[in-house]
Amino acid sequence: MSDTAEKQLVVFDFDWSLADQDSDRWVFEVLAPELRRKMKTLKQEVQWTDLMASSLRELHAKGVAKEEIEDVLRKMPFHPAMARGVTDLKTRSTPKTTFLCLSNANIVFISTILKAQGLDTLFEEVVTNPAEWDPSGLLKLRRRVDPEGPQHQCKVGCSPNMCKGDELDAFLDRHRTQFDRIIYVGDGTNDFCAVLRLRSQDMVLCRRHRGLEKLITGYEEESRLKCQVRYWAGAWEVEEIFKQL
Ligand SMILES: [Mg+2]
Ligand SMILES: [Zn+2]
Repeated sequence: MSDTAEKQLVVFDFDWSLADQDSDRWVFEVLAPELRRKMKTLKQEVQWTDLMASSLRELHAKGVAKEEIEDVLRKMPFHPAMARGVTDLKTRSTPKTTFLCLSNANIVFISTILKAQGLDTLFEEVVTNPAEWDPSGLLKLRRRVDPEGPQHQCKVGCSPNMCKGDELDAFLDRHRTQFDRIIYVGDGTNDFCAVLRLRSQDMVLCRRHRGLEKLITGYEEESRLKCQVRYWAGAWEVEEIFKQL
């Protein structure tokens, strides 16, 4: 990798990448494991964002308050080395780093957790599913791509709620800055589409033992991936790689 980069973009998936847990599942595992089981059963039939939205309605009907959900999010596992690594990288003047978050979670979960970790000013943009609390304390969640409107045309396998490859390209179009390199930190199969859009000077930091690893190793063996690949298992290794940039 060239070490002459002056402007770089670091793109983070949220669940199991920046955060050391899956926020959607965590909330139900802590507050209503019976709903978590139900979601696991229905996962194959119902689109995940829709399933989350209906499960949040059930959680609300059981009397779980907004404050309880927020409290559980603030306690979600988040590795101090990850917080330190991104903060150090953002503080460094060369290369100048812009951070983008691409996530299939939702804006309320992500904002609540970032604030609790002191990272609420980290990202230039958080691209995710919209959500808001209604006055009764119900978290109303919607797909980023409205199911009533035009759908994305992704053939890689992105979920209907959002194509991360399209979102990465759209961000790059919105921001006229040319980035000397892009570093993508991800773990899931839903990150693969964006990884395929990276160039030869870019790099993916792929978490081991999760869905993205299998997809990447298959492509790597056939030399079909343009970008460079580094693997990590614990957040401390991401911090280590960031220090080498
Ligand atoms: Mg993830
Ligand atoms: Zn896609």
